[in-house]
Order: sequence, then structure tokens, then C-alpha cells
Amino acid sequence: MEALSNSLAAADIATTMHPYTNLRQHEKTGPVVISRGDGIRVYDEHGKEYIEGLAGLWSVAVGFSEKRLADAAYQQMLKLPYYHTFSSKAHEPSIRLAEKLVEMTPENLTRVFFTSSGSEANDTIVKMMWFMNNALGRPKKKKFLARTKGYHGITVASGSLTGLPINHRDFDLPAIPVRHLTCPHFYRFGAEGEDEAAFTARLLAELESVIAEEGADTIAAFIGEPLIAAGGVLPPPAGYWEGVEKICRANDIVLIADEVICGFGRLGTPFGCQKYGFTPDIMTLSKQITSSYMPLAAVVFSEAIYQAIADNTATIGNFGHGFTASGHPVATAVGLENLAIIEERDLIGNAARLEASFQAGIRSFSDHPLVGEARGTGLIGAVELVADKATKRPFAKAGRAGAIANVIGHEEGLIFRSIGDQLALCPPMIATEDDVKEIMTRMARTLERLT
Ligand code: PLP
Repeated sequence: MEALSNSLAAADIATTMHPYTNLRQHEKTGPVVISRGDGIRVYDEHGKEYIEGLAGLWSVAVGFSEKRLADAAYQQMLKLPYYHTFSSKAHEPSIRLAEKLVEMTPENLTRVFFTSSGSEANDTIVKMMWFMNNALGRPKKKKFLARTKGYHGITVASGSLTGLPINHRDFDLPAIPVRHLTCPHFYRFGAEGEDEAAFTARLLAELESVIAEEGADTIAAFIGEPLIAAGGVLPPPAGYWEGVEKICRANDIVLIADEVICGFGRLGTPFGCQKYGFTPDIMTLSKQITSSYMPLAAVVFSEAIYQAIADNTATIGNFGHGFTASGHPVATAVGLENLAIIEERDLIGNAARLEASFQAGIRSFSDHPLVGEARGTGLIGAVELVADKATKRPFAKAGRAGAIANVIGHEEGLIFRSIGDQLALCPPMIATEDDVKEIMTRMARTLERLT
């Protein structure tokens, strides 16, 4: 601590409680202070260079030095730095971005509600479903179906939908009625002797039996990420989403695609639901919507849902929900410019074109003695470290190998995300073939040093 006095690190340790951080560990090791960005790279306060292999938090599509976004924010700040959207007030950037989202997303999604974070967006969806079902005279239809290892945020309602123990333990969650179904990850959750098709069939049978047990008249919605990302980059088995969609339709259960990470091209298609061939009634969008240059999220939803909610406001008055920053003009102006860049530079096409080399790179780590599974799709992937490759046995001290890999990765100039013992990569969508090679080289060096 003495040597650190007057440093940014010392000030950080003295004052800041970091999210998603072991705080006692942090007091000993201090922060990595990132001070600037350039393309797919960031630099720490000592000038050390890192490839940001996770695009920040799965979110910086256009890289870390896009001047057009800085200009869009500056120009909007000069013109109208803030206005709200309560009580019928509106401003051009949020109107234009809502129009753009309706144009980009599947045809059945026609309405947009803005929030600042993915968690707020999913909380908003919970409240919309409750409000809508009260309006429709179905006061029992309030439960949610989600999946183990799914991630939907950390607020009280969205954190309840999340299916990860770390987000529930000692927080007294779940706090809303939710059932978490089996995680659709064949490598970990497939049963002995079961093939992928039988695994899919088992998951769909489970969904049907939970609906029968609870009663379809008590279940409002099913929420899932097209590909579970923060839970470990877990692509679903073939046929899973078509089956889920069919069962939801048959039981009048709203289908929510949480596209906070998959949206805007991460999987090589505009939205993740298109990769897996299903059409949600609601989508949650955030992160790559502004490349995270400004906090922004959106709930995009169907006309039927909008009409049911709107009818109720005619009876009871306002839709009593909204945030000071809902549709913030600077955030939505940046979002519009960011989506323009994604289109002009065909970054979704770029992700699709890079898929072959990126996924080949990830899968090349399968031979490593500690890698149990190397997986992914589009421009997102992960390697799962295990104690015993043959039996898939995890390490006795979960997360330790991942944490060590993380430290080595930093030394090798590569930032990825350790999720327990799973190492996730999700680089900015401006990456090139050469960047993919360099990412894989640094990952290979990291894994070599781990043995
Ligand atoms: N949904 C998904 C799929 C996410 O990955 C995340 C964050 O990683 C969220 C929701 C929550 O978003 P936020 O951190 O902006 O609240």
C-alpha cells in the first residue's frame, strides 16, 4: 500500500466497491487501470497494450476509438443535452432510433421502450407482463420460465430471472415467481449415453411438463438468450429453439429473446433468434446498440402486447413506469450513429465472414490437456478448462484455473473473461483476419503456460 500511495490504484482501493469483484482480493492486488483505447486494443496507465478480446463486456462493436460516436455525442450535447420522454414529451434521436430498431428487428416487433441498462430492460419486461395480464383479466398469469446459467441482469426482477448461483446467493433471490429449466448445454447437461437430439427432446419434454405442473394460465413468459453468453458461451442444441417456440405458442406463453449480447450481429446474423430460427414476441437489446459508448437498452415488442397495455392506460391512467434517462437524447443519438456505422461497414457481414477462422482458432485448443470443450458460433467462443478431459471432471477448486489463466492472459496482452473455469472470447466486430490470428496466438501462449 505504501508504494501505491498517491496512485490511482491506491485511490481506487480506498474508495471504490467494484462490481463482480472479490473485494478482499482486490484490496491486495488493486485494479488494472485502463486509460485509453485504440481500435480493438486498450492500454493501461503504464502504457501496456492489450487486445480487448471480450470487447469490454461483450459490447464494443466498433472498437475503442470511434470518433464518429464522440462527435455524435458532442453535437447532441450542444443541441439538446437532456430531455425526458415522460408525459408525451419526445425528441428526435429517440424517435429515430425507435424507428430504426423497428426496421431492423423481425417484422412482428413494432414498439420500443428505452431504458439505460439490460437489467432495467428485463425488469421493465417483467412489469409489462404483469401489467398486461392484469389488463387482460388474467391476474394469475404472472410466472416466468428461464434457464439455469441464463443471464438477464442483476436488479431484483432481472436478477431473479438470471440462473447463476453467484447472482442469487446471499442476495435472497429469486424474489419473483420463476422456474429455472435445465441449461441447454449438451456437453455439461447431456445425460450418459444421450445424443444431442435426445437431449433436445428431453429439454422440450421438461418444458411441457413444467407448464402442465404449474398450469399455462399461471405462466406469463419464457425468457432466454438465443445463445447463453455470460453463463459460459453455451450454444443450444439443434431443434431446441424451434421446439420452445412451438410449445410457448401452444400455451399462450410470451416468448422473450434476451438479445443483449447476441443482438446486432454477434452470431453473424442481425439477431440471435435468426441464427436459431425463432421469432420472439419481445426482444431485449443493449450493449452493441451504442457499442457501450453510452448506456442504453431497449425493449422491442409486438403490437398485440402494446395494444393490451395501451388499452389499460385508457382505463386506469398512465403506464406508471419509466426512467429519468428513458430514451436519453445523447445515448440515442450515439445509438443511431453506431448502427449507421455497423451498416456502412457491414460489421454483421464481417462477423459472419470471420466465423470460420475464429471458430477454427477456438476449436484448435481442443487438443490442450486441460480443455474439456472448445465451443462457440459467429464471433463468440469459449474454452472450458477441466481437471480430467476424459470424464469432464471440473477442478476441485472451481474458478481457480480460470483466475490464473486470466492473470497469464493479461501478461500475454489478451483480455478475455474467466467465467469460473471457462475462458470467453468475444472481440470487437471491427476485428480483421489478422486480429483473429493474433488473438488466437496470445490465447495459445496463455494456455501453454497454464499446463
Ligand atoms: N441480459 C444479458 C443477456 C446480458 O448479457 C446482460 C449483461 O451482461 C444483461 C441482460 C444485463 O445488462 P446490464 O449489465 O446492462 O444491466
